[in-house]
Amino acid sequence: MPELPEVEVTRRGLARCLEGQVLVGATIRNAQLRYPVPEQLADTAPNLVLALVRRAKYLIIETSRAAIIIHLGMSGTLRYLSVATAPSRHDHVDLHLAQGGCVRYRDPRRFGAWLWVERPDAEAVNWWESDERLRQLGPEPFDPALTAECWYRATRGKKQEVKRWLMDGRAVVGAGNIYAAESLFLAGIDPRRSVGSMGRVRYARLLEALRRVLDQAIEAGGSTLRDFVDDRGEMGYFQHSHHVYGRAGKPCLLCATELRQIRQGQRTTVFCPVCQR
Ligand SMILES: [Zn+2]
Repeated sequence: MPELPEVEVTRRGLARCLEGQVLVGATIRNAQLRYPVPEQLADTAPNLVLALVRRAKYLIIETSRAAIIIHLGMSGTLRYLSVATAPSRHDHVDLHLAQGGCVRYRDPRRFGAWLWVERPDAEAVNWWESDERLRQLGPEPFDPALTAECWYRATRGKKQEVKRWLMDGRAVVGAGNIYAAESLFLAGIDPRRSVGSMGRVRYARLLEALRRVLDQAIEAGGSTLRDFVDDRGEMGYFQHSHHVYGRAGKPCLLCATELRQIRQGQRTTVFCPVCQR
């Protein structure tokens, strides 16, 4: 499943192809995604692309007429191609550009989503967040307004386990299972610890660690950027070396203690019982 770093790398790759270009319609081969693909996409009236923005795992194509909001779901990918490239079975949507070329959406499992939010008369900052799915999202991990102090204050008196709290999307977006486990290891925090028991120093370490692991994953993904500008291969998970994720039973890289695996909610967590307190 694409996580925040994969979506950010998609944004960086496609922004170069899309920003400043004019959309002139779409081919919708299969409208049955998570929600029906909006028919407005196929409208051939010229529509200037102003920016490609990411919010959590949503990509927002801000145009002169609307915001086209895309969620990649479990298996969605976007690539910039020549229109002459023959579509395959799972290529459900093409966005056509005036200068030739198209952005093609492939999604074998069809859990992805395309939304259309009309540009309002009175513009606000990030006006597309009028869509409730975006409005409900927690803070972005790299937003400077998100601080350890925010987390500290929001968790006084709460008993939730820190790993589950980090992953539930309200404290921050983008901490999927891999990134939550890795950042707790780097911060030296036991994933079972209750959020109310953590002081400002632990929250500062955790936020810094989360930003570092996401940043490293985005940097690692930069090397796969060519997948978005031609038709070679499909984007998979980025290949990172993990400290704890996927390493249950193996020795901790810091202290050589055997890494433990537990279940938290529906998810597995791997951690070091010595380094993480
Ligand atoms: Zn250790």
